[in-house]
Amino acid sequence: MAVPSPRPILRAEILAIGTELTVGETTDTNSGELARSLVAHGVTVVRVEDLPDDLEVVVGALREALTRADLVVTTGGLGPTPDDLTREAVAELCGEAVAVDPPTLAWLEGLWARRGQPFPSVNVKQAWRIPSAEMLANPNGTAPGWWVDRPDGSVIVTLPGPPREMRPMWDDEVLPRLAARGVGADSDVRTLRLTGVGESVVAEQLGEALLRATNPIVATYARQEAVDVRISARAADGRGASELADEAEAAVTAILGQYVWARGSTTWAGALEAALGERGWTLATTERGTDGALVQLLRSLPAVVLAERRGGASDDAPGEGESFEAGQAARVREAAGADVGLAIRALPGGEDTTVHVGIVTPDGTHTERRFAFLRGSLGADRAAIAGASALLALLRGRAGG
Ligand code: AMP
Ligand code: MG
Repeated sequence: MAVPSPRPILRAEILAIGTELTVGETTDTNSGELARSLVAHGVTVVRVEDLPDDLEVVVGALREALTRADLVVTTGGLGPTPDDLTREAVAELCGEAVAVDPPTLAWLEGLWARRGQPFPSVNVKQAWRIPSAEMLANPNGTAPGWWVDRPDGSVIVTLPGPPREMRPMWDDEVLPRLAARGVGADSDVRTLRLTGVGESVVAEQLGEALLRATNPIVATYARQEAVDVRISARAADGRGASELADEAEAAVTAILGQYVWARGSTTWAGALEAALGERGWTLATTERGTDGALVQLLRSLPAVVLAERRGGASDDAPGEGESFEAGQAARVREAAGADVGLAIRALPGGEDTTVHVGIVTPDGTHTERRFAFLRGSLGADRAAIAGASALLALLRGRAGG
């Protein structure tokens, strides 16, 4: 007998349930984490909602979500107390009755027995199951979740609210089941990280045709460290996801390749660690006028043997310009016995920041002047990135590029 192929899981909705969220006592971090994971697996998250512990509201939200999404994930409301009523809401929506799941009850009772304590009757509801639910084990708490297959092929997943319980259940219980349903198999998501160019210029150069396409989806994100261009492709019309993503990536790099400094979630510290590591070089840095922004940016970089932070830009400034920074780079390199010295100085220039960069390596001395958008702490952060970017370009053999 042919097994009907299950409805593909393409669109998801996330419901974060808990009155603590809607009164602003707890910040909903679960939704963002789940959304990132889903999107990385090629699932489009069409809506995220925070809801109070209110049976009617939750049932209504579930019902509506299922009209739009193939998968609805809830977090929260799985505690033992009467205000936690996600189970009741899902049961009502499905028109099914809850009953105690004997193996789950035995496991729960065992948790208390282990501590030699009587099992509290309020916790019995955490062993509830409806017939169409499969239990999702929670090794870090007393609230198992549910995987509910709906007759129309959609899926409801319930997870507890505490992030350290929710996360491992998502990774170990839910993602494998989603993979078995084909999620992630036909998708390819990649990110190009750009620097030295603003998001609006990136968007303008990519053009509407690329940015409005639905497969692959090409989207830009202005982040502190970079402008990210994210490409997500799904297999379609007999063409594989990676083939479609390759094509979009080639189109993006043809236009903006000169600004790309990393891929994925690589940080400045990570990119420099790789570039310095290739040569086995250590780094000493000194900065002025940046409030320690460079130290901050590179704080997780093991190759840094000295990170010096000097006072304001205008105090004790005997020299002007990049040649002065070259001297500073040589000094700090020498003092630390490092292979590379990097010196930056941020100077306010009009509304923006001028950055003098000096770099000394075993191969020679390099200086350059860069500009950072805005002044103050925003300008300082960008000045640090300009310094890191100048060093990375030099190490990659494309200084000034
Ligand atoms: P629960 O008993 O499953 O409703 O959740 C209990 C606790 O989990 C709450 O008191 C919060 O500390 C935390 N929590 C619940 N929902 C979220 C959420 N969406 N994001 C982050 N933490 C949450
Ligand atoms: Mg709750």
